[in-house]
Amino acid sequence: MVVSTISGSSHLSYSNGTTIPLSTFSSNSFVNVEKGDPVAFRSYWEKMREECTIEIKGDEWMSYFGDTNNLCWYMVPQMRDAILRLHNMVGNAVTKDKFLVLGTGSSQLYQALLYALSSLEPSDRPINVVAAAPYYSEYKDATDILQSRLFQWTGDAALYDKGEPYMEVVTSPNNPDGTLRVPVVNSGAKGKVIYDLAYYWPQYTPIIYEADNDVMLFTFSKCTGHAGSRIGWAFVKDIEVAKKMIRFVHLNSIGVSKESQIRAAKIIGVICDGYQNLKSIESDRLFFYYSKRLMKERWEKFKGAVEQSKVFTLTKYPTSYCHFNKDLSEQYPAFAWLKCVEGIEDGESYLEKLKIRTRGGKRFGVDTKYVRISMIGTDDEFIKLCTRLSNAKRE
Ligand code: PMP
Repeated sequence: MVVSTISGSSHLSYSNGTTIPLSTFSSNSFVNVEKGDPVAFRSYWEKMREECTIEIKGDEWMSYFGDTNNLCWYMVPQMRDAILRLHNMVGNAVTKDKFLVLGTGSSQLYQALLYALSSLEPSDRPINVVAAAPYYSEYKDATDILQSRLFQWTGDAALYDKGEPYMEVVTSPNNPDGTLRVPVVNSGAKGKVIYDLAYYWPQYTPIIYEADNDVMLFTFSKCTGHAGSRIGWAFVKDIEVAKKMIRFVHLNSIGVSKESQIRAAKIIGVICDGYQNLKSIESDRLFFYYSKRLMKERWEKFKGAVEQSKVFTLTKYPTSYCHFNKDLSEQYPAFAWLKCVEGIEDGESYLEKLKIRTRGGKRFGVDTKYVRISMIGTDDEFIKLCTRLSNAKRE
């Protein structure tokens, strides 16, 4: 009998192959809901493990090239077809008349876009990069790490009042607070908008329209939960922007792993085949049905725990009609965004005392009253989080 770790939770493995989960939490250990590792849908993929298995032989996928007929020459046709099929099925983006650019995660494409958009408009000063607070905590560091002469992080888009060119990142639904967003910069200066649609998938939010923006980022990480494959993609209207992005990916990593592309294409194919073959859209065999139900159940449990705690308030979300699920639905964001009630100034420290590790408001450009909590961690973590939160009564 051995104790092993699968996806962050300990299991007792017996020699006959049986595994029994063991709760990893003693009363002293921290529940870490600080990161956004999307492992919540693991049980679904465990059930689909055979259908999703791929075999890659020793002589296969050796070349740097994936498709020399495509502008995005490192993308294999199977990957392109799978991405287009998925969007066509979900109806969350207009893909026609746009260039598809593949990246090693959408994180790489974010940097590729900063380079592409800023280098196409030469200027003597770095172009200002802004996003409305609270904004995704990685944008700032990802923008400034190389101290580029082309662009620089300037902070909250709502406060932008310089008469200089800018790039605004619009994350919708937003990380950390789940809200649906539009550009907010109010300046006469020339601006470009990057739409980060990482969470615009039916398990997190009703699909209310087909996004049709000039620059849209998506990621496999938050769509299916396979963050480890490091697959992201962008739809880009302007061929010059697409070419510059591809050049960036060329110089940065000479393309994207073919093994990852083949695996991601297979997994997306399994999701789409499910919907094609099963006539009902209400079945736990279907990925978005399963994952939305999981998110909904987690949110209901979590809201109950927050109410009981009387220490925090939660963002409120509207109900809308989802064109994919064909129902009226609330949003079930990948993160919960909590605000402390009057008298508590630092949410992160407050929760730290309760052995709950979160990411505080400062990282997202707002004050310490706010904290972000991941809703997409393991079941073990989530259950413990709710128990500790509901016991967090204010002294
Ligand atoms: N954008 C947002 C808003 C995200 O939350 C994340 C992942 N946390 C990313 C981009 C990056 O995703 P990827 O794994 O594709 O690099």
